[in-house]
Amino acid sequence: MAEEDDELLGERLLFLPDRHVRYFQRSLQALPEQCATLETSRLTIAFFALSGLDMLDSLHVLNKDEIIEWIYSLQVLPTEEKSNLSRCGFRGSSCLGLPFNPSKGHGIYHPYDSGHIAMTYTALCSLLILGDDLSLVNKDACLAGLRALQLPDGSFCAVPEGSENDMRFVYCASCICYILNDWSGMDVEKTIEYIRRSMTYENALGQGAGLEAHGGSTFCGIASLCLMGKLEDVFSERELNRIKRWCILRQQNGFQGRPNKPVDTCYSFWVGATLRLLNIFKYTNFEKNRNFILSTQDRLIGGFAKWPDSHPDALHAYFGICGLSLMGESGINEIHPALNVSLKTYKHLQQLHEAWKSKNCEKSSNHPQH
Ligand SMILES: [Zn+2]
Repeated sequence: MAEEDDELLGERLLFLPDRHVRYFQRSLQALPEQCATLETSRLTIAFFALSGLDMLDSLHVLNKDEIIEWIYSLQVLPTEEKSNLSRCGFRGSSCLGLPFNPSKGHGIYHPYDSGHIAMTYTALCSLLILGDDLSLVNKDACLAGLRALQLPDGSFCAVPEGSENDMRFVYCASCICYILNDWSGMDVEKTIEYIRRSMTYENALGQGAGLEAHGGSTFCGIASLCLMGKLEDVFSERELNRIKRWCILRQQNGFQGRPNKPVDTCYSFWVGATLRLLNIFKYTNFEKNRNFILSTQDRLIGGFAKWPDSHPDALHAYFGICGLSLMGESGINEIHPALNVSLKTYKHLQQLHEAWKSKNCEKSSNHPQH
């Protein structure tokens, strides 16, 4: 009996990359009926699948050009008279019934058409993952749309009509500015103030001031500050030590998002990546973390669930793989913990930034200031 158990455990702990590749391929094509409500945020599902395939070095299974064209068709472009600049960015899917338009031309005005901050963030990441150079992104319009979403307290709404405003969208905004290499998309000082005010008596970050400390919002706040290059300016060493302590205490076997909550696969990334950004991930117990993540792997259809013996979903499938990547699992690419894309994709972005810089230099030397 004991031998059988050992065998079963051995089998359960095998990482099965091929199954996950097929799982992500399917997520890009057809989803089960229960996922119909996710239609308006289809781009985020696409991001989980694309970044998952990138982490598994398997983007060759895709028709990249077709997906790039689809993503560009979701860009909310400025109209000829630029009357909708505050509504620009990317929308989540084509379900609004607007005509297919992957071009860089003028947008068509529609009273209910606008971008969504999480869709703009995942659209830009997905384009980078697919090797695109972002040349068809209307950067100025994206930045204008982003500025319109910032509230006086420094936080961001998701859509110009108004919505929840919290640390998730602060992170999306920081990623957008980082990718476009232009922080004029936000008032950085106000954003930093918002992050600081979200520090709780437990010594980690909540979704906003006065709210409970949470592994997800702590990642969003700390990663945003890292992307700004401001982490050490904003928090003192003593404060950072306290945040480290809160984060490291979230490990049970896997990681939990808050004290007294059950562990969940995605926190192996949210808390794990935060610990990596704070340079102490190496002090966590890799074996226990890995065993928990792999106990949530669906060995039949691929993907990961939040808990063992539950149904897998695209988000947990992706973050399960990211959690394993942080521990150097073989067969998985390295991850950039702050931008949440593979290191390979991050390097592609660095090259784009270099190219934009030299283009700008050329421009300014061709057109000397009067
Ligand atoms: Zn989760």
